[in-house]
Amino acid sequence: MASDALLEICELFYSIQGESSYAGYPCFFIRLAGCNLRCTWCDTRYAYEKEHQSYSISRIVAELNKYPGVMVEVTGGEPLLQRNVYPLFDKLLATGRIVLLETNGSLRLDNIPEKVVKIMDVKCPGSAMHEKMDFDNFEFITPKDEIKFVISSRADYTWAKQLVSSYDLSTRATVTFSPVTSRIASPELAGWILADYLPVRLRIQLHTILWPGRTRGY
Ligand code: SF4
Repeated sequence: MASDALLEICELFYSIQGESSYAGYPCFFIRLAGCNLRCTWCDTRYAYEKEHQSYSISRIVAELNKYPGVMVEVTGGEPLLQRNVYPLFDKLLATGRIVLLETNGSLRLDNIPEKVVKIMDVKCPGSAMHEKMDFDNFEFITPKDEIKFVISSRADYTWAKQLVSSYDLSTRATVTFSPVTSRIASPELAGWILADYLPVRLRIQLHTILWPGRTRGY
């Protein structure tokens, strides 16, 4: 029975949404275990390096229901690696909540239910994973979705700027640029965006301001 399908879970937690147009809202996070990429600056290695736990979908929804009405985000790792994420989406949407999906941009987005808000990462060269991106996924992005670039250098910025222009990404969805704060300062990235009149939103991870030093469960 689909509602009892199992998923490998890294962690379930309740926090403030910190990295999208929904930043600032209370949110229940479902972090699925496993990832097919190895970004050089990854800050969630525990999603694929540490032990994880099997949860049935009905148990996940029971955990979610402890937090009445809040939005829910499915993240990872890379959540689309687990095929049971699809019946999970259906159950989450059936609760009537806003459902967000954060995905690393390497796997096809053609089967995501329409009502799920997709936050698609585009990995820049500084991640060493840029060749894994599936740019055909831009076809499945709709105006409610988001395309997120994580920028670790001026070279990443230039690469991302060219991609935004060549695929006209700002007309497809909200495009965000976020700094890898261990490599570039946020004001530096802000200055580049301003100088180029770039139609993208600077996004700074809210949880790093709220809870500096916390490494998981945010
Ligand atoms: S896709 Fe995400 S979880 Fe996977 S290696 Fe990159 S940053 Fe880490």
